[in-house]
Amino acid sequence: MIICKSERELSYMRDAGRVVAETFAELERSVKVGISTGELDLLAEDFIISKGARPAFKGLYGFPATICASLNEEVVHGIPGLRKLKDGDIISIDLGAEINGYYGDSAITFPVGDVSSEAMRLIGVTEEALYLGIDRARAENRLSDISYAIQSHAEKSGFSVVRDYVGHGIGSSMHEEPQVPNFGKPGRGPRLKEGMTLAIEPMINMGTYEVRTLSNNWTVVTLDNKLSAHFEHTVVITGGEPEILTQINRRRPER
Ligand code: MG
Ligand code: MG
Repeated sequence: MIICKSERELSYMRDAGRVVAETFAELERSVKVGISTGELDLLAEDFIISKGARPAFKGLYGFPATICASLNEEVVHGIPGLRKLKDGDIISIDLGAEINGYYGDSAITFPVGDVSSEAMRLIGVTEEALYLGIDRARAENRLSDISYAIQSHAEKSGFSVVRDYVGHGIGSSMHEEPQVPNFGKPGRGPRLKEGMTLAIEPMINMGTYEVRTLSNNWTVVTLDNKLSAHFEHTVVITGGEPEILTQINRRRPER
């Protein structure tokens, strides 16, 4: 069942989303050559707790940290640790926060230092695909209109869309119905309604869309070890423009 949220529920989700956005603003200042993914994790955890929220990933399905930190060919679910960021890396950070029983979820891929132009293009196209998908998240559209917008933009740019991991409904749980694939024909799936809340999250690969999981049972990497990027926002379907909950500024930031 897809749950349409009440105004009261949406106000809790706005609070959770704002904490996630503010945490990313903190992280963005710290993503630099030489910092370890574990240090970024601690920074995010301390910040979320200082805002009266709870790091939502920690303990979720047994995940051991506050952020997922996925470098280069890692797609999602990288575990933070001692590894230090190097010049030319790209790092996908995914994180969630919970307040009053409601969740926010977002992801950003950051370039570290001087990154190749092809890696920058992958990051740019993935972020654009997210915003094109969000633009289709409107009442009376069908769910797969979002999927189609994301897939067409990624593929016409020469990249591929991960199939094994998808976006999701979100609210009083981190993962609710429906699944939100980043691929598929338009005009399929449930009709979108005001008050539905979705985490839309394209994962876009430079080479093959196929992925595998490392022996730590968490980290997902591309099968061909080429780069992958990931952007995500939690959004509400309204009577008009979709409302992005995990963004401090209403407008898309220029990169
Ligand atoms: Mg996420
Ligand atoms: Mg998510």
